[in-house]
Amino acid sequence: MDVLVCAGCGAELSVPVERVALPPEAHASGHHAWMPALMEPGTYAVDPDPWGRPWRRREEIGASEAAALGVYAPLYAVATGPRNVIVLAPGDTRGTRLLPERSGDSCLGIVAGDEPSLLCAGCGLGVGFREDDCGVWQTVRYDPGGVVRRSLGVPAPAAPVRPLPPVDPEGGWDLRWTAAAGTALARLLAASGGRAPVLPPASRPRCSAGPSNGCSRPGRPARPSAWPAPACPGRTPTSSSSPPTDGPESPGGRPGTRSPSRSPPPSGPT
Ligand SMILES: [Zn+2]
Repeated sequence: MDVLVCAGCGAELSVPVERVALPPEAHASGHHAWMPALMEPGTYAVDPDPWGRPWRRREEIGASEAAALGVYAPLYAVATGPRNVIVLAPGDTRGTRLLPERSGDSCLGIVAGDEPSLLCAGCGLGVGFREDDCGVWQTVRYDPGGVVRRSLGVPAPAAPVRPLPPVDPEGGWDLRWTAAAGTALARLLAASGGRAPVLPPASRPRCSAGPSNGCSRPGRPARPSAWPAPACPGRTPTSSSSPPTDGPESPGGRPGTRSPSRSPPPSGPT
């Protein structure tokens, strides 16, 4: 395990944390939804891609330069900030001082701006950014030049397994599942070499079905599916042959309360 310390004065700026892989959803946005912490407690990750400001319009830099920055999709803007930013859960930080007035253009909270919003409480060095706004993961990102990773020489304790339901309490696909599925499919496509993969029936994912058990979005026609769809939390699963319950009987019996920011359920083969 490691402790992150200030590059200026050596003060400890984190609890003991274990390095893990950057979650695939790290760059996903929830639009106007409040989002949880990106990182599990007791962990941190290093983001190899550029992060944050300055942003540049993709049409200005072109597809090849955007790809060199790790962006292949036709996004409007591309981050050209520092690489190897260290990201961890806000609750795992220590010894920092927050300057919310240094927030960038945010909606309901604070996001990263031009200058670090987190300072070392010991020496005042700008060490990172705190983000707490709708549509962004709860994170602290330390500047790789502002902190030093100091090894404690001890292994991390076994991490508890926290199962994550694929469907959130509002009835939408969880953004983490959506990002993980997209990443897995991109890797599958790359590994296929252009050939159509053939999956044996036993390997068909159970969560690839379209809405058929009450998880469908209001106003959206349901699609017939031979595969069972995930059950909505708090509802009794119905068989895949049951009629859809679009409209007033939206998930949880609260029509229109599902966040529009959630990604639509991926459509499975029918
Ligand atoms: Zn310091």
